[in-house]
Amino acid sequence: GVGRHWEMAIHPVGEGGLLVRLADRSEARAAERMRVDFVANASHELRTPLATLLGYIETLQMANGPEDAATRLRFLNTMFGEGKRMQRLIEDLMSLSRIEAEQHSAPQDAVALDSLAAEVRDAIASARSVERDRIEIAVDGAAPVAGDRAQLSQLLHNLIGNALKYGRPGGAVQVRVAREAAGLRLSVTDEGAGIPREHLPRLTERFYRVDPGRSRAVGGTGLGLAIVKHIAERHRARLDIASVVGQGTTVSVLFPLPGEALSSKSHTIVTQ
Ligand code: ADP
Repeated sequence: GVGRHWEMAIHPVGEGGLLVRLADRSEARAAERMRVDFVANASHELRTPLATLLGYIETLQMANGPEDAATRLRFLNTMFGEGKRMQRLIEDLMSLSRIEAEQHSAPQDAVALDSLAAEVRDAIASARSVERDRIEIAVDGAAPVAGDRAQLSQLLHNLIGNALKYGRPGGAVQVRVAREAAGLRLSVTDEGAGIPREHLPRLTERFYRVDPGRSRAVGGTGLGLAIVKHIAERHRARLDIASVVGQGTTVSVLFPLPGEALSSKSHTIVTQ
């Protein structure tokens, strides 16, 4: 439930008088609960691969452990995969806390999103053996945005990465940079299975996944969209996630043009 939490303080005043003060602590309580949940979730996410890793090490250490080279190699490959998973998680956790620490400074670089998108596409294509042509970039009247280049690169990595991970296998990923009246829109569209409506409002929560097994199988940490949300907020941009089940998903970020501010709400989610 979302009941309010009141804190009551009673102070003596004057001759035998009492002042009763009520303070609404609902938001502080909610923030504290989120922090506790976050630490518990992060610990759990790290503990699982660590337990697997230690289990395999113990088996290899045993005097009567596997002797044939093929089995040992299989064990080592699993151990490597679990180690990588922990590494990705720690890197994402560090990114999140770095972005949070920078949240109150305005980003200063003039970033051309179209050429940054091309850079990220090339990096992803070479690092993940994805065909470069699967990632299409369309530009419609682009202009530079005032941004943090490293963070925007990470935002693009996360969105294109999700489109590849959850898109149709071998399907196209469309990256669009388009000038609109309200600002500059960067959008990433895939032809995947889409996301059922009821999940949309929760996707940017840390560790929220529609299908946890699928996310882990494709190397997800559950932090990608939380990172995207924080980066969008730092840029005073608006994040929209629109998805049609059976057709695909478009995640877009609407950046204010230099010198202009978007309307108050920095983060909204819409459904198509
Ligand atoms: P993960 O590391 O699990 O990919 P994210 O925070 O990036 O974490 O995304 C959260 C969840 O949102 C994913 O686990 C997945 O269920 C869903 N999701 C994200 N992007 C897409 C997409 N393009 N298509 C379908 N589902 C998506």
